[in-house]
Amino acid sequence: MKVLFASSEAAPFFKTGGLGDVAYALPKELVKQGVDIRVVLPYYSTMPERYKEQVEELISFRVQVGWKTMYCGIKTLVLEGITYYFIDNKTYFDRSSFYGQLDDGERFGFFSLAICEMMEKIDFIPDVVHVNDWHTAMVPVLLVDKYHWVQAYKDIRKVITIHNIRFQGIFDPVVLSSIFGTGMNIYHEAGVKYYENVNFLKGGINFSDVVTTVSPSYANEIQTPEFGEGLEGTLRYNSSKIRGIINGIDYDINNPETDPKLLYHFSSDDLSGKAKNKAALQERLGLEVNPDIPLITSVGRLTDQKGYQLVQEKAEELLNSRDVQIAILGTGEAEYENSFRYFASEYPDRFSAVIDFDITLAQLMYAGSDLFLMPSAFEPCGLSQMISLRYGTLPIVHETGGLKDTVVPYNAYTGEGTGFTFMDFSGYALLGTIYRALDVYENQPKAWAAMVQTAMEQDFSWKEPAKDYLEIYESLVNE
Ligand code: ADP
Repeated sequence: MKVLFASSEAAPFFKTGGLGDVAYALPKELVKQGVDIRVVLPYYSTMPERYKEQVEELISFRVQVGWKTMYCGIKTLVLEGITYYFIDNKTYFDRSSFYGQLDDGERFGFFSLAICEMMEKIDFIPDVVHVNDWHTAMVPVLLVDKYHWVQAYKDIRKVITIHNIRFQGIFDPVVLSSIFGTGMNIYHEAGVKYYENVNFLKGGINFSDVVTTVSPSYANEIQTPEFGEGLEGTLRYNSSKIRGIINGIDYDINNPETDPKLLYHFSSDDLSGKAKNKAALQERLGLEVNPDIPLITSVGRLTDQKGYQLVQEKAEELLNSRDVQIAILGTGEAEYENSFRYFASEYPDRFSAVIDFDITLAQLMYAGSDLFLMPSAFEPCGLSQMISLRYGTLPIVHETGGLKDTVVPYNAYTGEGTGFTFMDFSGYALLGTIYRALDVYENQPKAWAAMVQTAMEQDFSWKEPAKDYLEIYESLVNE
Protein backbone atom coordinates (compact mmCIF):
# COMPACT_ATOMS: atom_id res chain seq x y z
CA MET A 1 0.00 0.00 0.00
CA LYS A 2 1.52 3.28 -1.14
CA VAL A 3 0.07 6.51 0.20
CA LEU A 4 0.97 10.14 -0.36
CA PHE A 5 -0.19 12.20 2.61
CA ALA A 6 -0.45 15.91 1.84
CA SER A 7 -0.72 18.52 4.56
CA SER A 8 -0.01 22.21 5.03
CA GLU A 9 1.74 21.47 8.33
CA ALA A 10 3.26 18.57 10.28
CA ALA A 11 5.17 18.44 13.53
CA PRO A 12 8.07 18.48 14.28
CA PHE A 13 8.78 20.75 11.31
CA PHE A 14 5.76 23.02 11.37
CA LYS A 15 2.83 23.10 13.76
CA THR A 16 0.13 25.61 14.60
CA GLY A 17 -2.41 23.16 16.01
CA GLY A 18 -4.01 19.75 15.85
CA LEU A 19 -3.44 19.23 12.11
CA GLY A 20 0.30 19.45 12.73
CA ASP A 21 0.08 16.76 15.40
CA VAL A 22 -2.08 14.45 13.28
CA ALA A 23 0.07 14.83 10.16
CA TYR A 24 3.04 13.67 12.19
CA ALA A 25 1.56 10.90 14.32
CA LEU A 26 -0.85 9.19 11.92
CA PRO A 27 1.75 8.49 9.20
CA LYS A 28 4.16 7.29 11.89
CA GLU A 29 1.62 4.70 13.05
CA LEU A 30 0.70 3.69 9.49
CA VAL A 31 4.35 3.01 8.73
CA LYS A 32 4.39 0.65 11.73
CA GLN A 33 1.37 -1.10 10.22
CA GLY A 34 3.27 -1.70 6.99
CA VAL A 35 2.11 1.17 4.79
CA ASP A 36 4.58 2.95 2.50
CA ILE A 37 3.26 6.38 3.43
CA ARG A 38 5.16 9.51 2.47
CA VAL A 39 4.29 13.02 3.56
CA VAL A 40 4.42 16.13 1.41
CA LEU A 41 4.63 19.59 2.99
CA PRO A 42 5.50 23.13 1.97
CA TYR A 43 9.11 24.08 2.62
CA TYR A 44 8.39 27.05 4.88
CA SER A 45 11.49 29.06 5.71
CA THR A 46 10.66 28.75 9.41
CA MET A 47 11.74 25.10 9.46
CA PRO A 48 14.00 24.56 12.50
CA GLU A 49 17.69 24.71 11.59
CA ARG A 50 18.41 21.15 12.72
CA TYR A 51 16.06 19.82 10.02
CA LYS A 52 17.17 22.33 7.40
CA GLU A 53 20.65 20.90 7.78
CA GLN A 54 19.36 17.40 7.02
CA VAL A 55 17.19 18.02 3.96
CA GLU A 56 18.52 17.06 0.57
CA GLU A 57 17.64 18.45 -2.83
CA LEU A 58 15.91 15.78 -4.87
CA ILE A 59 14.83 17.47 -8.05
CA SER A 60 13.54 20.77 -9.38
CA PHE A 61 11.13 21.64 -12.16
CA ARG A 62 8.73 24.37 -13.20
CA VAL A 63 5.06 24.57 -12.36
CA GLN A 64 2.62 26.59 -14.40
CA VAL A 65 0.53 28.81 -12.12
CA GLY A 66 -1.92 30.48 -14.46
CA TRP A 67 0.26 32.44 -16.86
CA LYS A 68 3.29 32.34 -14.53
CA THR A 69 5.97 29.70 -14.62
CA MET A 70 7.18 29.11 -11.08
CA TYR A 71 10.22 27.33 -9.70
CA CYS A 72 9.45 24.18 -7.72
CA GLY A 73 12.17 22.44 -5.74
CA ILE A 74 11.57 19.09 -4.05
CA LYS A 75 13.61 18.54 -0.95
CA THR A 76 13.52 15.37 1.04
CA LEU A 77 14.31 13.99 4.46
CA VAL A 78 13.72 10.67 6.20
CA LEU A 79 12.67 10.93 9.82
CA GLU A 80 11.59 7.97 11.97
CA GLY A 81 11.07 5.80 8.91
CA ILE A 82 8.94 8.31 7.04
CA THR A 83 10.01 9.99 3.83
CA TYR A 84 9.05 13.65 3.76
CA TYR A 85 8.96 15.75 0.62
CA PHE A 86 9.10 19.50 0.94
CA ILE A 87 7.93 21.75 -1.85
CA ASP A 88 10.24 24.69 -2.12
CA ASN A 89 9.43 28.05 -3.58
CA LYS A 90 10.61 31.14 -1.73
CA THR A 91 7.99 33.46 -3.20
CA TYR A 92 5.25 31.41 -1.60
CA PHE A 93 6.78 29.90 1.51
CA ASP A 94 9.42 32.31 2.76
CA ARG A 95 6.93 34.06 5.03
CA SER A 96 6.72 34.82 8.73
CA SER A 97 3.50 32.80 9.16
CA PHE A 98 1.99 29.79 7.42
CA TYR A 99 -1.52 31.14 6.93
CA GLY A 100 -3.49 34.34 6.76
CA GLN A 101 -1.58 35.85 3.86
CA LEU A 102 -3.41 37.75 1.12
CA ASP A 103 -2.28 35.29 -1.53
CA ASP A 104 -3.12 32.07 0.37
CA GLY A 105 -5.25 30.90 -2.56
CA GLU A 106 -2.29 31.13 -4.89
CA ARG A 107 0.19 29.75 -2.36
CA PHE A 108 -1.80 26.60 -1.67
CA GLY A 109 -2.96 26.45 -5.27
CA PHE A 110 0.70 26.24 -6.25
CA PHE A 111 1.30 23.66 -3.52
CA SER A 112 -1.54 21.49 -4.89
CA LEU A 113 -0.36 21.80 -8.50
CA ALA A 114 3.19 20.98 -7.41
CA ILE A 115 2.00 17.83 -5.60
CA CYS A 116 0.25 16.62 -8.75
CA GLU A 117 3.31 17.30 -10.88
CA MET A 118 5.73 15.84 -8.35
CA MET A 119 4.37 12.31 -8.18
CA GLU A 120 5.35 11.48 -11.74
CA LYS A 121 8.64 13.40 -11.60
CA ILE A 122 9.90 11.58 -8.50
CA ASP A 123 8.33 8.34 -9.66
CA PHE A 124 6.21 7.80 -6.57
CA ILE A 125 2.77 6.90 -7.84
CA PRO A 126 0.67 6.17 -4.76
CA ASP A 127 -2.37 3.95 -4.55
CA VAL A 128 -4.03 6.63 -2.46
CA VAL A 129 -3.56 10.37 -2.15
CA HIS A 130 -4.72 11.48 1.27
CA VAL A 131 -5.24 15.25 1.54
CA ASN A 132 -6.13 17.35 4.57
CA ASP A 133 -8.29 20.45 4.91
CA TRP A 134 -8.73 23.17 2.30
CA HIS A 135 -5.04 23.78 1.62
CA THR A 136 -4.65 20.52 -0.28
CA ALA A 137 -8.30 19.91 -1.13
CA MET A 138 -7.75 20.92 -4.76
CA VAL A 139 -5.45 17.93 -5.34
CA PRO A 140 -8.37 15.48 -5.85
CA VAL A 141 -10.09 18.07 -8.05
CA LEU A 142 -6.98 18.51 -10.18
CA LEU A 143 -6.39 14.77 -10.46
CA VAL A 144 -9.90 14.28 -11.82
CA ASP A 145 -10.06 17.36 -13.97
CA LYS A 146 -6.64 18.50 -15.05
CA TYR A 147 -4.42 15.43 -14.82
CA HIS A 148 -6.87 12.74 -15.91
CA TRP A 149 -4.86 12.26 -19.08
CA VAL A 150 -1.76 11.20 -17.10
CA GLN A 151 -1.88 7.44 -17.53
CA ALA A 152 0.10 6.75 -14.35
CA TYR A 153 -2.46 8.61 -12.23
CA LYS A 154 -5.56 6.92 -13.46
CA ASP A 155 -5.94 4.46 -10.56
CA ILE A 156 -5.02 6.82 -7.75
CA ARG A 157 -7.76 6.89 -5.10
CA LYS A 158 -8.49 10.07 -3.21
CA VAL A 159 -9.23 10.58 0.49
CA ILE A 160 -9.82 13.93 2.14
CA THR A 161 -9.86 14.53 5.88
CA ILE A 162 -11.68 17.53 7.30
CA HIS A 163 -9.97 18.70 10.46
CA ASN A 164 -12.01 21.86 10.80
CA ILE A 165 -14.82 22.77 8.44
CA ARG A 166 -14.73 26.42 9.43
CA PHE A 167 -11.77 27.00 7.12
CA GLN A 168 -12.72 26.30 3.50
CA GLY A 169 -10.53 28.32 1.15
CA ILE A 170 -13.06 30.51 -0.65
CA PHE A 171 -11.81 32.57 -3.58
CA ASP A 172 -12.95 34.43 -6.67
CA PRO A 173 -13.71 32.10 -9.61
CA VAL A 174 -10.89 33.75 -11.53
CA VAL A 175 -8.51 31.42 -9.62
CA LEU A 176 -9.58 28.57 -11.89
CA SER A 177 -7.79 30.18 -14.81
CA SER A 178 -5.31 32.46 -13.05
CA ILE A 179 -3.91 29.72 -10.76
CA PHE A 180 -5.05 26.27 -11.78
CA GLY A 181 -5.32 26.75 -15.51
CA THR A 182 -8.52 24.73 -15.62
CA GLY A 183 -11.65 25.60 -17.50
CA MET A 184 -15.01 26.50 -16.00
CA ASN A 185 -16.26 22.93 -16.43
CA ILE A 186 -15.81 22.23 -12.70
CA TYR A 187 -17.58 25.46 -11.76
CA HIS A 188 -20.93 23.99 -10.82
CA GLU A 189 -22.72 22.91 -7.63
CA ALA A 190 -21.40 19.33 -7.70
CA GLY A 191 -17.91 20.72 -8.32
CA VAL A 192 -16.18 23.71 -6.74
CA LYS A 193 -18.87 26.39 -7.05
CA TYR A 194 -20.06 27.89 -3.77
CA TYR A 195 -22.47 30.77 -4.28
CA GLU A 196 -20.47 33.06 -6.61
CA ASN A 197 -17.07 31.74 -5.53
CA VAL A 198 -14.75 28.78 -5.74
CA ASN A 199 -14.56 26.75 -2.55
CA PHE A 200 -11.48 24.50 -2.35
CA LEU A 201 -12.83 22.31 0.44
CA LYS A 202 -16.12 21.79 -1.35
CA GLY A 203 -14.18 20.65 -4.41
CA GLY A 204 -12.16 18.24 -2.28
CA ILE A 205 -15.35 16.77 -0.81
CA ASN A 206 -17.03 16.38 -4.19
CA PHE A 207 -14.02 14.88 -5.96
CA SER A 208 -12.68 12.49 -3.30
CA ASP A 209 -13.67 8.86 -3.01
CA VAL A 210 -13.90 9.02 0.78
CA VAL A 211 -14.34 11.98 3.10
CA THR A 212 -13.21 11.46 6.65
CA THR A 213 -13.44 13.73 9.60
CA VAL A 214 -11.86 13.49 12.98
CA SER A 215 -14.63 12.16 15.20
CA PRO A 216 -17.91 10.28 14.70
CA SER A 217 -19.92 13.05 16.39
CA TYR A 218 -18.39 15.73 14.18
CA ALA A 219 -19.13 13.58 11.12
CA ASN A 220 -22.83 13.86 12.00
CA GLU A 221 -22.70 17.45 13.18
CA ILE A 222 -21.20 18.87 9.99
CA GLN A 223 -24.17 17.56 8.04
CA THR A 224 -26.41 20.00 9.93
CA PRO A 225 -26.79 23.77 9.43
CA GLU A 226 -25.61 24.44 12.98
CA PHE A 227 -22.11 23.03 12.38
CA GLY A 228 -21.81 22.65 8.61
CA GLU A 229 -20.59 26.21 7.99
CA GLY A 230 -22.55 26.33 4.76
CA LEU A 231 -21.28 22.96 3.46
CA GLU A 232 -23.95 20.83 5.15
CA GLY A 233 -25.78 20.42 1.83
CA THR A 234 -22.62 19.26 0.06
CA LEU A 235 -21.91 16.83 2.89
CA ARG A 236 -25.40 15.42 2.95
CA TYR A 237 -25.20 14.97 -0.80
CA ASN A 238 -21.95 13.04 -0.23
CA SER A 239 -23.03 11.39 3.02
CA SER A 240 -22.40 7.83 1.83
CA LYS A 241 -18.68 8.70 1.53
CA ILE A 242 -18.31 10.20 5.03
CA ARG A 243 -16.57 8.43 7.91
CA GLY A 244 -15.75 9.76 11.38
CA ILE A 245 -12.47 8.47 12.81
CA ILE A 246 -11.33 9.77 16.14
CA ASN A 247 -7.79 11.14 16.24
CA GLY A 248 -5.24 9.63 18.53
CA ILE A 249 -2.48 11.35 20.43
CA ASP A 250 1.17 10.57 20.05
CA TYR A 251 1.93 8.07 22.80
CA ASP A 252 5.69 8.51 22.41
CA ILE A 253 5.47 12.20 23.15
CA ASN A 254 2.53 12.30 25.55
CA ASN A 255 3.66 9.81 28.13
CA PRO A 256 3.75 10.87 31.79
CA GLU A 257 6.31 8.15 32.52
CA THR A 258 8.90 9.38 30.05
CA ASP A 259 7.97 12.88 28.84
CA PRO A 260 11.32 14.70 28.56
CA LYS A 261 9.57 18.04 29.00
CA LEU A 262 8.68 17.12 32.59
CA LEU A 263 10.98 17.27 35.57
CA TYR A 264 8.98 14.63 37.44
CA HIS A 265 7.55 11.51 35.90
CA PHE A 266 4.54 9.59 37.14
CA SER A 267 2.12 6.81 36.35
CA SER A 268 -1.35 5.77 37.42
CA ASP A 269 0.28 3.56 40.11
CA ASP A 270 2.37 6.34 41.55
CA LEU A 271 1.07 9.87 41.29
CA SER A 272 3.68 11.48 43.52
CA GLY A 273 5.41 12.94 40.46
CA LYS A 274 2.17 14.60 39.45
CA ALA A 275 2.02 16.45 42.78
CA LYS A 276 5.61 17.62 42.30
CA ASN A 277 4.75 18.88 38.82
CA LYS A 278 1.85 20.77 40.31
CA ALA A 279 4.12 22.51 42.79
CA ALA A 280 6.63 23.31 40.02
CA LEU A 281 3.85 24.69 37.83
CA GLN A 282 2.41 26.83 40.63
CA GLU A 283 5.86 28.19 41.34
CA ARG A 284 6.66 28.88 37.70
CA LEU A 285 3.37 30.73 37.17
CA GLY A 286 3.64 32.76 40.37
CA LEU A 287 0.60 31.07 41.91
CA GLU A 288 0.46 30.14 45.58
CA VAL A 289 2.31 26.84 45.97
CA ASN A 290 -0.28 24.75 47.75
CA PRO A 291 -1.18 21.14 46.92
CA ASP A 292 -4.73 21.52 48.23
CA ILE A 293 -5.91 24.37 46.05
CA PRO A 294 -7.44 22.94 42.87
CA LEU A 295 -5.57 24.13 39.80
CA ILE A 296 -7.50 24.45 36.54
CA THR A 297 -5.51 24.90 33.34
CA SER A 298 -6.39 25.55 29.74
CA VAL A 299 -4.16 25.42 26.66
CA GLY A 300 -5.41 26.46 23.27
CA ARG A 301 -6.05 29.03 20.60
CA LEU A 302 -7.79 31.95 22.31
CA THR A 303 -10.78 32.08 19.97
CA ASP A 304 -14.55 31.81 20.08
CA GLN A 305 -14.27 28.26 18.75
CA LYS A 306 -12.54 27.21 21.92
CA GLY A 307 -15.26 28.79 24.07
CA TYR A 308 -13.04 31.32 25.81
CA GLN A 309 -15.95 33.78 25.85
CA LEU A 310 -17.48 31.60 28.57
CA VAL A 311 -14.25 31.62 30.56
CA GLN A 312 -14.01 35.38 30.16
CA GLU A 313 -17.59 35.76 31.32
CA LYS A 314 -17.32 33.60 34.44
CA ALA A 315 -13.67 33.76 35.57
CA GLU A 316 -14.15 36.51 38.14
CA GLU A 317 -17.32 34.99 39.54
CA LEU A 318 -15.45 31.73 39.97
CA LEU A 319 -12.44 33.34 41.60
CA ASN A 320 -14.68 35.31 43.96
CA SER A 321 -16.74 32.30 44.97
CA ARG A 322 -14.21 29.47 45.34
CA ASP A 323 -10.67 28.84 46.43
CA VAL A 324 -9.27 27.87 43.07
CA GLN A 325 -6.39 28.68 40.73
CA ILE A 326 -6.72 29.18 36.96
CA ALA A 327 -3.87 29.15 34.45
CA ILE A 328 -4.32 29.79 30.74
CA LEU A 329 -1.72 29.29 28.00
CA GLY A 330 -2.56 30.47 24.52
CA THR A 331 -2.51 33.11 21.85
CA GLY A 332 -5.31 34.38 19.69
CA GLU A 333 -7.90 37.12 19.64
CA ALA A 334 -6.76 40.34 21.32
CA GLU A 335 -9.94 40.58 23.33
CA TYR A 336 -9.21 37.33 25.17
CA GLU A 337 -5.51 37.96 25.49
CA ASN A 338 -6.25 41.31 27.11
CA SER A 339 -8.99 40.19 29.44
CA PHE A 340 -6.93 37.23 30.67
CA ARG A 341 -3.97 39.54 31.23
CA TYR A 342 -6.31 41.78 33.20
CA PHE A 343 -7.50 38.92 35.42
CA ALA A 344 -3.88 37.95 35.99
CA SER A 345 -3.07 41.47 37.14
CA GLU A 346 -6.12 41.57 39.44
CA TYR A 347 -5.58 38.10 40.96
CA PRO A 348 -1.83 37.57 40.59
CA ASP A 349 -1.47 34.57 42.87
CA ARG A 350 -4.65 32.86 41.63
CA PHE A 351 -4.95 33.56 37.92
CA SER A 352 -2.13 33.18 35.43
CA ALA A 353 -2.20 34.08 31.73
CA VAL A 354 0.73 33.12 29.54
CA ILE A 355 0.11 34.65 26.12
CA ASP A 356 2.54 32.53 24.17
CA PHE A 357 2.94 29.32 22.18
CA ASP A 358 5.09 27.18 24.43
CA ILE A 359 4.98 23.41 24.03
CA THR A 360 7.09 22.75 27.10
CA LEU A 361 4.84 24.78 29.37
CA ALA A 362 1.83 23.13 27.69
CA GLN A 363 3.07 19.69 28.82
CA LEU A 364 3.69 20.96 32.34
CA MET A 365 0.14 22.27 32.42
CA TYR A 366 -1.35 18.98 31.21
CA ALA A 367 0.71 17.13 33.80
CA GLY A 368 0.70 19.47 36.76
CA SER A 369 -2.91 20.51 37.13
CA ASP A 370 -6.07 18.93 38.49
CA LEU A 371 -8.63 20.02 35.91
CA PHE A 372 -8.37 20.98 32.25
CA LEU A 373 -10.84 23.41 30.77
CA MET A 374 -12.01 23.00 27.17
CA PRO A 375 -15.47 24.51 26.71
CA SER A 376 -15.28 24.63 22.88
CA ALA A 377 -18.34 25.89 21.02
CA PHE A 378 -17.54 23.22 18.45
CA GLU A 379 -14.66 20.76 18.39
CA PRO A 380 -13.92 18.48 15.42
CA CYS A 381 -11.85 16.19 17.65
CA GLY A 382 -9.64 18.05 20.07
CA LEU A 383 -6.34 16.65 21.24
CA SER A 384 -5.82 18.62 24.41
CA GLN A 385 -8.55 16.84 26.36
CA MET A 386 -7.01 13.46 25.46
CA ILE A 387 -3.54 14.61 26.48
CA SER A 388 -4.87 15.91 29.79
CA LEU A 389 -6.68 12.60 30.43
CA ARG A 390 -3.47 10.70 29.81
CA TYR A 391 -1.77 12.87 32.42
CA GLY A 392 -4.55 12.31 34.96
CA THR A 393 -5.94 15.83 34.65
CA LEU A 394 -9.70 15.64 34.42
CA PRO A 395 -11.26 17.62 31.61
CA ILE A 396 -14.23 19.97 31.86
CA VAL A 397 -15.76 20.07 28.39
CA HIS A 398 -18.76 21.14 26.37
CA GLU A 399 -20.47 18.05 24.94
CA THR A 400 -19.72 18.59 21.29
CA GLY A 401 -17.84 16.80 18.50
CA GLY A 402 -14.77 14.91 19.61
CA LEU A 403 -15.11 16.13 23.18
CA LYS A 404 -18.34 14.17 23.42
CA ASP A 405 -16.64 11.10 21.92
CA THR A 406 -13.63 11.08 24.24
CA VAL A 407 -14.74 12.31 27.67
CA VAL A 408 -17.08 10.10 29.68
CA PRO A 409 -19.29 12.33 31.85
CA TYR A 410 -19.01 11.82 35.58
CA ASN A 411 -21.97 9.96 37.02
CA ALA A 412 -22.41 10.81 40.68
CA TYR A 413 -24.41 7.62 41.34
CA THR A 414 -22.12 5.05 39.79
CA GLY A 415 -18.87 7.00 40.13
CA GLU A 416 -18.12 6.30 36.48
CA GLY A 417 -16.59 8.87 34.23
CA THR A 418 -13.40 10.56 33.17
CA GLY A 419 -14.43 14.21 33.22
CA PHE A 420 -17.15 16.80 33.70
CA THR A 421 -19.36 17.84 30.82
CA PHE A 422 -22.15 20.27 30.02
CA MET A 423 -24.60 20.41 27.14
CA ASP A 424 -25.90 23.94 27.04
CA PHE A 425 -23.22 26.27 25.65
CA SER A 426 -23.45 29.01 28.28
CA GLY A 427 -21.36 30.57 31.01
CA TYR A 428 -23.98 29.47 33.51
CA ALA A 429 -23.63 25.80 32.51
CA LEU A 430 -19.85 26.03 32.49
CA LEU A 431 -19.70 27.54 35.95
CA GLY A 432 -22.14 24.97 37.33
CA THR A 433 -19.97 22.20 35.90
CA ILE A 434 -16.81 23.65 37.40
CA TYR A 435 -18.59 23.78 40.77
CA ARG A 436 -19.57 20.12 40.40
CA ALA A 437 -15.99 19.20 39.59
CA LEU A 438 -14.66 21.17 42.55
CA ASP A 439 -17.15 19.48 44.86
CA VAL A 440 -15.86 16.05 43.88
CA TYR A 441 -12.25 17.24 44.19
CA GLU A 442 -12.80 18.70 47.65
CA ASN A 443 -15.29 16.29 49.20
CA GLN A 444 -14.93 12.92 47.50
CA PRO A 445 -11.25 12.10 47.24
CA LYS A 446 -11.95 8.43 46.55
CA ALA A 447 -14.27 9.13 43.65
CA TRP A 448 -11.71 11.63 42.33
CA ALA A 449 -8.86 9.15 42.56
CA ALA A 450 -10.94 6.51 40.75
CA MET A 451 -11.67 8.95 37.94
CA VAL A 452 -8.00 9.83 37.59
CA GLN A 453 -7.16 6.12 37.32
CA THR A 454 -9.83 5.50 34.69
CA ALA A 455 -8.77 8.61 32.76
CA MET A 456 -5.13 7.51 32.63
CA GLU A 457 -6.06 3.99 31.52
CA GLN A 458 -8.05 5.08 28.43
CA ASP A 459 -6.49 4.15 25.10
CA PHE A 460 -6.05 7.22 22.95
CA SER A 461 -3.15 5.86 20.96
CA TRP A 462 -3.14 5.98 17.17
CA LYS A 463 -3.21 2.19 16.83
CA GLU A 464 -6.94 1.71 16.28
CA PRO A 465 -7.60 4.93 14.35
CA ALA A 466 -4.69 4.13 12.01
CA LYS A 467 -6.20 0.68 11.39
CA ASP A 468 -9.45 2.38 10.40
CA TYR A 469 -7.61 4.55 7.87
CA LEU A 470 -5.81 1.53 6.50
CA GLU A 471 -9.13 -0.26 6.08
CA ILE A 472 -10.42 2.67 4.07
CA TYR A 473 -7.32 2.67 1.85
CA GLU A 474 -7.64 -1.08 1.33
CA SER A 475 -11.32 -0.94 0.52
CA LEU A 476 -10.65 1.71 -2.13
CA VAL A 477 -7.77 -0.11 -3.72
CA ASN A 478 -9.64 -3.42 -3.81
CA GLU A 479 -12.80 -1.84 -5.22
P1 ADP B 1 -6.79 22.92 17.33
O1 ADP B 1 -6.15 22.08 16.29
O2 ADP B 1 -8.21 23.27 17.04
O3 ADP B 1 -5.99 24.14 17.68
P2 ADP B 1 -6.41 20.63 19.13
O4 ADP B 1 -6.86 20.40 20.53
O5 ADP B 1 -6.83 19.62 18.13
O6 ADP B 1 -6.89 22.09 18.71
O7 ADP B 1 -4.82 20.72 19.09
C1 ADP B 1 -4.14 21.74 19.69
C2 ADP B 1 -2.70 21.34 19.83
O8 ADP B 1 -1.90 22.53 19.88
C3 ADP B 1 -2.42 20.60 21.12
O9 ADP B 1 -1.29 19.76 20.94
C4 ADP B 1 -2.08 21.76 22.09
O10 ADP B 1 -1.29 21.35 23.16
C5 ADP B 1 -1.31 22.66 21.17
N1 ADP B 1 -1.38 24.08 21.55
C6 ADP B 1 -2.39 24.95 21.35
N2 ADP B 1 -2.08 26.17 21.83
C7 ADP B 1 -0.85 26.07 22.36
C8 ADP B 1 0.05 26.99 23.02
N3 ADP B 1 -0.28 28.24 23.22
N4 ADP B 1 1.26 26.52 23.40
C9 ADP B 1 1.60 25.24 23.18
N5 ADP B 1 0.82 24.32 22.58
C10 ADP B 1 -0.40 24.73 22.17
